[in-house]
Amino acid sequence: MKALVKLRPEKGLWMEDVPVPSIGVNDVLIKIKKTAICGTDLHIYKWDDWSQKTIKTPMTIGHEYMGEIVDMGKGVENLKIGDRVTGEGHIACGHCRNCRRGKRHVCENIVGVGVNRDGAFAEYLSLPAANVVKLDPRIPDEIASIMDPFGNATHTALSFPLLGEDVLITGAGLIGNMAVAISRFAGARYIVVSDMSEYRLDIARKMGATLTVNPAKGETIAQAVKQLNMRGFDVGLEMSGAPAAFREMIDNMYNGSKISLLGILPNNTTVDWNSIIFKALTLKGIYGREMWETWYAMEQMLISGLDLTPIITHRYSVDDFQKGFDVMESGQCGKVILNWQ
Ligand code: NAD
Ligand code: ZN
Repeated sequence: MKALVKLRPEKGLWMEDVPVPSIGVNDVLIKIKKTAICGTDLHIYKWDDWSQKTIKTPMTIGHEYMGEIVDMGKGVENLKIGDRVTGEGHIACGHCRNCRRGKRHVCENIVGVGVNRDGAFAEYLSLPAANVVKLDPRIPDEIASIMDPFGNATHTALSFPLLGEDVLITGAGLIGNMAVAISRFAGARYIVVSDMSEYRLDIARKMGATLTVNPAKGETIAQAVKQLNMRGFDVGLEMSGAPAAFREMIDNMYNGSKISLLGILPNNTTVDWNSIIFKALTLKGIYGREMWETWYAMEQMLISGLDLTPIITHRYSVDDFQKGFDVMESGQCGKVILNWQ
């Protein structure tokens, strides 16, 4: 079968002919229809420090996808051949303390599809049935292929109540902009979004942002607070991984407010701890998606009208995957879809 493989420890990805993966007794075989490129795939493509430490070559990458079940092991129940599916990309062990107390997203032994084992940028993917998510027919194929990052956005945005609250989102990237739509859908009052890219801030406005802030043009979040006649934000969603953005967020939070941290900040990031303590802020680190409450919320939002389509800006046949990675590298894009059929 065709697969996009990180073949060598250097920049690039290679379309290779590899064996169809085998399935175990509790696995399903998914024929891939659509995939999307994640920031993580771009890191692996570029072969940055994180990838060099994490990825063992050769490896088929990719973890944002949808497709159809074409084969399954004898132990699989509740699924059938022909089911339209996507999957949770974190495979939990099922036996550690967190798994056994129903907190599978913080399993001690998580294995990442397309990161620690072969992924979905291929004609076929083998996945444990426990990770399979059956798709509601009202969720279109393209949206189904971006459920994984939509889950990161949902987990982050819905970690604290949003109804009537003023929300600050730093980073209008692929996940940040989905969080804009979720915050709007969940009843936030003002949603202020910052990013250095006008292209991405334009998408943020389409997703429902009240006001956008571009630090590259000298705009500040404090100006937005003043313009909206606010005292500060009730909920902060840090989705840039940029220390400057996180510090500006802390400066503009209201006393007693809450911050969810999704963006991966550098280890040496410094913050004003006194602000965090004396404003009595609550900080929550976010990892992955909750299994399975995040997935439940995602499905319910999508079938009751949440629209993510403005986030998808580019579509290519997988044979043109290089164009997809080039546009991802340029940053002049929202979500990039690769079609496998
Ligand atoms: P992305 O690269 O698409 O988005 C990041 C955005 O931040 C970009 O648009 C960039 O222009 C913007 N940005 C950079 N500096 C900024 C600044 N100073 N102020 C405001 N915006 C700034 O990435 P993404 O896929 O949307 O992911 C968002 C973050 O979440 C990344 O750091 C990613 O590594 C992380 N992530 C974490 C998890 C998790 O489980 N914790 C999962 C997925 C992604
Ligand atoms: Zn576990």
